[in-house]
Amino acid sequence: MLPTIALVGRPNVGKSTLFNRLTKTRDALVADFPGLTRDRHYGRGVVGDRPYLVVDTGGFEPAADTGILVEMARQTLQAVDEADAIIFLVDGRQGITAQDKVIADRLRRTGRSVLLAVNKSEGMNRTIAAAEFYELGLGEPYAISSAHGEGVRDLINLALADF
Ligand code: GDP
Ligand code: MG
Repeated sequence: MLPTIALVGRPNVGKSTLFNRLTKTRDALVADFPGLTRDRHYGRGVVGDRPYLVVDTGGFEPAADTGILVEMARQTLQAVDEADAIIFLVDGRQGITAQDKVIADRLRRTGRSVLLAVNKSEGMNRTIAAAEFYELGLGEPYAISSAHGEGVRDLINLALADF
């Protein structure tokens, strides 16, 4: 089985943009990976000559009748559980939101190590863009731009470093 990276975060932080960049021109078909569930979006990426799987957890979208915590418990936490590495995306332009804090708290309680990615940081000073997010208590924030590809390769190498 390939190492699996889960992308988590509240809506609109750029998870799908990152997913698409990582899996571009790869066969992002669930059908290629028997046994994986279909309610999450799996794709295949390659960094250097290393293949890996990436999971886009759209499951954070809070439904009208369920809170974000319920959605997290049901789908995203399962993806987190199954993943070898976890990338938590936040929006460097918006700064920390209440939802980010809820997700950060929940992720921290899993005891898993989490890579904190400060997305949309193109055109910003990366150190300054990232600094505010130390407050989430998940260690060093890494500034990236999913849309422009900046910092993405380094982030994936970090995510896969232990596997
Ligand atoms: P998701 O809901 O977390 O999957 O977020 P999406 O990938 O759908 O992106 C939400 C919005 O953020 C879209 O309008 C994207 O074009 C935009 N976006 C994603 N990544 C970046 C980025 O690196 N920089 C900027 N400026 N916008 C981005
Ligand atoms: Mg999405």
